[in-house]
Amino acid sequence: MKAVVGELARFGGTPEFRTPLRLGRPNIGDRARFFARLGGALDRGWLSNGGPLVAEFEDRVARITGARHCVATCNATLALQLAIRAAGWRGEVIVPALTFAATAHAVAWLGLTPVFCDVDPVTGGLDPGHAATLIGPRTSGILGVHLWGRGHRLDELTELAHRHGIGLLFDAAHAFACSWRGRPIGSFGAAEVFSFHSTKFVHAFEGGALVTDDDALAERARSLRNFGLTGPDEVAQVGVNAKMSEASAAMGLTSVDSLEEFRAHNAHNHARYTAGLAAAPGIRLLAFDPAEDNNFQYVVAEVDETVTGLGRDTLHEVLLAENVLARRYFHPGCHLMAPYRDGTRLPHTEALAARSLALPTGTAVGAEQIDRLCRLLRFAARNGRAIQDRIGAEPVIARAS
Ligand SMILES: *Cc1c(COP(=O)(O)O)cnc(C)c1O
Repeated sequence: MKAVVGELARFGGTPEFRTPLRLGRPNIGDRARFFARLGGALDRGWLSNGGPLVAEFEDRVARITGARHCVATCNATLALQLAIRAAGWRGEVIVPALTFAATAHAVAWLGLTPVFCDVDPVTGGLDPGHAATLIGPRTSGILGVHLWGRGHRLDELTELAHRHGIGLLFDAAHAFACSWRGRPIGSFGAAEVFSFHSTKFVHAFEGGALVTDDDALAERARSLRNFGLTGPDEVAQVGVNAKMSEASAAMGLTSVDSLEEFRAHNAHNHARYTAGLAAAPGIRLLAFDPAEDNNFQYVVAEVDETVTGLGRDTLHEVLLAENVLARRYFHPGCHLMAPYRDGTRLPHTEALAARSLALPTGTAVGAEQIDRLCRLLRFAARNGRAIQDRIGAEPVIARAS
């Protein structure tokens, strides 16, 4: 508990957390079941190539998302590429810039051009109005992102794509077991892609999945995933190896078994943060619509510098010194990253990217840690101007270290 600003670790005090409080520590389910499944795979001697665990995992994911087909992959980045290829896209693809770099990379790696679109200033979801102005003769589709697991104006995006005769796909990496207007995420656009990376809500060490109701798209994606094979010695198209292994599926199934337990833990964490930050001036938690399913895997704080007197970046610096490894998601926005920077400016994306800070949650984080972190955040917010002034008065060399 800090009594004065000088006790902050940033100014030489003892860090609040002795061991780092990390973002994205894995939600680990029942180890015994995982090892039993893994043992079964070793006993069968069937470790990849359409094994029973992958088939079962695909079934479970399809059922949870309400989709007819699930094509499990080794990660979401490749699943996005399979979706884009299977949908036959070329030329330009409209994507939000407020997302993880993988969304844009998946497009660019295939030789297509990502065209960055601005987002809603409040929700961070792709703005259909701005997207409409970016559609041109080379546009083949819109790749939306359900940022923080929240759908945004999906009916309008669907209508927009339909009206212009272009495709619609979703990067649903954040949104497993979430809903929009009561419909499960996974049932929008031509296909949606989930990530089962270790940091995600449900994980398979590394993993991903494409879900779709389109029989032909699913068949193409399955073949593309497996070197373009359509029969034992028959290669119909240029494919890739994007298969999920049985070991990953063993973890994925075990993780899915505990999905509701993870969700409840995360929801509890989110409520605890909400209560703990209610009295932190200028720090607002991103809220979730109680009428929708969410996985609460992301706790995102927005820092209003005009109220706290403390910028998001300074708060981040203060937290890092206390051993709180918060992340500036998704700073600065893909359109300002080296491979994509071309002078495009997106005011809403940049404003959100400049004030958002993702805080640690997941089953590895508990109430006691959240209470301590909230106390620290309240202290920083109330003493924002003093902290900022003290950092401002430091010699430049000390500041850089
Ligand atoms: C994690 C993530 C990805 C990449 O997923 P991988 O499974 O690691 O390839 C893509 N898009 C978003 C929005 C993500 O958060």
